[in-house]
Amino acid sequence: MSEQSELIVEQIQIGPMANFTYLVGSRSTREVAIVDPAWDIDALLERIDAADYKLTAALVTHYHPDHVGGSFGGNSIEGLAQLMAKRGVKAYVHKSEAEGVRKVTGLSESDLARVDSGDRLTIGDVEVEFLHTPGHTPGSQCFRIKNTLVSGDTLFINGCGRVDLPGSDPEAMYHSLRHLCSLPDDTLLLPGHNYAHVPNATMGETKSQNTYLNIRDLDTWKNLMGG
Ligand SMILES: [Zn+2]
Repeated sequence: MSEQSELIVEQIQIGPMANFTYLVGSRSTREVAIVDPAWDIDALLERIDAADYKLTAALVTHYHPDHVGGSFGGNSIEGLAQLMAKRGVKAYVHKSEAEGVRKVTGLSESDLARVDSGDRLTIGDVEVEFLHTPGHTPGSQCFRIKNTLVSGDTLFINGCGRVDLPGSDPEAMYHSLRHLCSLPDDTLLLPGHNYAHVPNATMGETKSQNTYLNIRDLDTWKNLMGG
């Protein structure tokens, strides 16, 4: 799916909630990071190994169990804890999401790398930039890798993440979406769930069809979203 041939970008739909996990990394060194590993860790590791990739990091968009594993509605979902028992990588989480991640996954502080907006991580010869995009959760973050954006539950092709959950903040979501709108139109948007008629789209396409990106004043937004 990527025309940026030096990049590895693989979109993997997994689990009963239409989640997307991603592998992002460097084609030349075959080093990859996995974004939001959950639901079936063995299947994800088999895919990494079959492609002869070297897993070097786990990147966390936010702490909800359908993205990182943990207990959810009485069920136990596989995720970071099972991954890190098998591969010794760190989970890169926004600093204000770290406690939430620890709580739902049971990971310890030494398993985590706390990051802030603007921090960068190098995977082989590819740079990942962390963008703090609060709203769905306090420490939601997106990952910008060249001209792709992995957006978690902040931005979907036809919508945005829920802001009526514990820890959600409608006003913060408004500002996060305005910020993402400033990215170039040819940026490829890679959302956290397969909720649209297509699995990915450019920011230009997304801006033209996503109502939530076309509300440009906070009062209108608050009337629509609450808060
Ligand atoms: Zn979520």
